[in-house]
Amino acid sequence: MRTSSSTTESSVQLLMDILSIPTVNGKDREADLAEFLKDFFISAGIDAYTQKIDEKRSNIIAHVEGQDSLKKVVWNGHIDTVPYGDTDLWNTDPATPVISEGKVFGRGASDMKSGLAAMVYTLCSMKERGIVPSRTIQFIGTCDEESGGAGASKVLEDDLLGSPEYILIGEPTNNNIGIAQKGCMWVKFHVRGAGSHAAYPEQGENAIIRGHEFYNRLAVKLTAHTHPLFSGSTASLTLIEGGTTMNVIPDTCSLVVDIRFIPSLASGEVFRIIDETVLEIERESGGRSSIEYEVLNSRRSLEVPANNPKVELLCNEITRCGRSPELFGINYFTDASVLTEEGSDIPVFLFGPGNQELCHKPNESVDLKQYKLALSVLERLYCSGTVR
Ligand SMILES: [Zn+2]
Repeated sequence: MRTSSSTTESSVQLLMDILSIPTVNGKDREADLAEFLKDFFISAGIDAYTQKIDEKRSNIIAHVEGQDSLKKVVWNGHIDTVPYGDTDLWNTDPATPVISEGKVFGRGASDMKSGLAAMVYTLCSMKERGIVPSRTIQFIGTCDEESGGAGASKVLEDDLLGSPEYILIGEPTNNNIGIAQKGCMWVKFHVRGAGSHAAYPEQGENAIIRGHEFYNRLAVKLTAHTHPLFSGSTASLTLIEGGTTMNVIPDTCSLVVDIRFIPSLASGEVFRIIDETVLEIERESGGRSSIEYEVLNSRRSLEVPANNPKVELLCNEITRCGRSPELFGINYFTDASVLTEEGSDIPVFLFGPGNQELCHKPNESVDLKQYKLALSVLERLYCSGTVR
């Protein structure tokens, strides 16, 4: 099935098969794709099993035993996708992959079923050719990455990760290497003031105005930090609620702020800035305003130094395949921030054939040349990558 003469065709077929199993987060049965991949691994002679999260969601785990079974590396990808959005904006059915002008169109083509397919195909074809990697390669296909990260959390809970030499994540990088990612926090602030007749605003304490002041000050402080791989941290006001009616000074207001912070700013430092700003606003209001907050989501930031030997290795393999990769930072979070805890020294980097610009949009696609280049790089990494 996967002889070298039919490599191109069968690798593209695998991509088409994976794209044909819809796995929209929160809607479809992600477990169906996990089962499909399990069967695909097993038919290639690789040990694989699914790890059930609930009725609709499972992870898929596979092991390719290395010459030195005590050492291992992890290849990870997520099996879910975001929803289709307005299907009228698509030129094709997002659930049915279509090849046109050297590209494959369909939801997940870039994010990240092409990266997933490239990893699965490489592991299976190398195994079938009887090539044993120097280290064990553990493949972890996670569900629910696009939402709460339930799949990655289950991997941690069951202690499946151990101490790998690195984690490679097949997210779309255009075959460049992502060596840093921003952390993310969604924080809901509850601002309390005092109500009054709007004809006598001085008798009240306007919670909306205080909330606005608080947000502005917080955003200035958080975005003041810089990093060579990013344009900076961001703090976006994404939800706001407050007020009772047109002629009453509002006594409560709630704000949700989406904070994306650069790796040099640890989560602890973000909390310190939040606490400091809360205190400032409370003090300036003379004790008439108070602010409490709850953290709705927290994903840590990550960074691997550009001179890390594993990054250099991947760089060399990509260069040998005919392209000079860029090292860059990504603004969004991935399962890496769940799989590795704060303070972990496991290097994590991203490499995949998809294009970030096309993700989460109508007419998502992947260029087949990029997909094939990723296959060649992963093949090299499989053979030589883990030897240092
Ligand atoms: Zn993704």
